[in-house]
Amino acid sequence: MLGIINQGHAPKGNPDPGAINPITGLRESDITYLLGEEMAGFLRAAGHEIIVIQSDSLTEIVAAANDNDADYFISIHCNSAEDPAAEGFEVYTTPGQTAADPLATAIINQTKAAFPETKFREDWGDNDPDKEANYYVLRNTVCPAVLIECGFISNRKEQTNMQDPAWRTKMTAAWARGVTDWQVAL
Ligand SMILES: [Zn+2]
Repeated sequence: MLGIINQGHAPKGNPDPGAINPITGLRESDITYLLGEEMAGFLRAAGHEIIVIQSDSLTEIVAAANDNDADYFISIHCNSAEDPAAEGFEVYTTPGQTAADPLATAIINQTKAAFPETKFREDWGDNDPDKEANYYVLRNTVCPAVLIECGFISNRKEQTNMQDPAWRTKMTAAWARGVTDWQVAL
């Protein structure tokens, strides 16, 4: 299996750091970098070939998946909202039932099992928990593609979690288990 892991926003935040916590200054691009590296380690240990890419160019990100004939694509982001109380975990796919939906469901199921106290923001309109949006990197990748919003960087509790290496390890291990669950069910 060849997987592409895309860490959302630009390397070292230059020029695009993504969302920033207004109080602590924690930057999305720094958290997605760490999560992506760690997730890649777990999946390589499971025998997958992994390309990790963080880039300001969405076309470059999509090309990494399509030119390499990837089997799956995962983009990692942190959510943000003006309301500091907004919180929760969500996974996006393109609209409708696609080959990405079982991958999203497997990742959500493992993350729920590992984090029973976390709020999961779900859309059961099509009988599975993923949310749906036509994000560029989902719409233009040929392989099953999901976008994980690991929490709200604007939320005090969740941004504290993001800074905790143990939380990141537990989170990325759960995502990797989701990917391997999906793989065995193919
Ligand atoms: Zn983002």
